[in-house]
Amino acid sequence: MTRPRGSWTSFVEELATRRDMIERLMADHLPNDDGLCVECTTPGRGTPQTAWPCSLWTLADAARQVRVKRKTRAC
Ligand SMILES: [Zn+2]
Repeated sequence: MTRPRGSWTSFVEELATRRDMIERLMADHLPNDDGLCVECTTPGRGTPQTAWPCSLWTLADAARQVRVKRKTRAC
């Protein structure tokens, strides 16, 4: 993976504070029968083109895990 680590991490940390955003992303970005994300579509055409899990779902999942860790630590 060649993600710019700093910005990815800060984005995840930011998203982790928004439970509604996380739930919305994970509810919207789901795979169709072909294993493509139904929400990440070709602009203007609505054709699924991104293999699921897409980057937005992955981001939301990472943020969700940050929340779980934070909750565990708080207890
Ligand atoms: Zn997606």
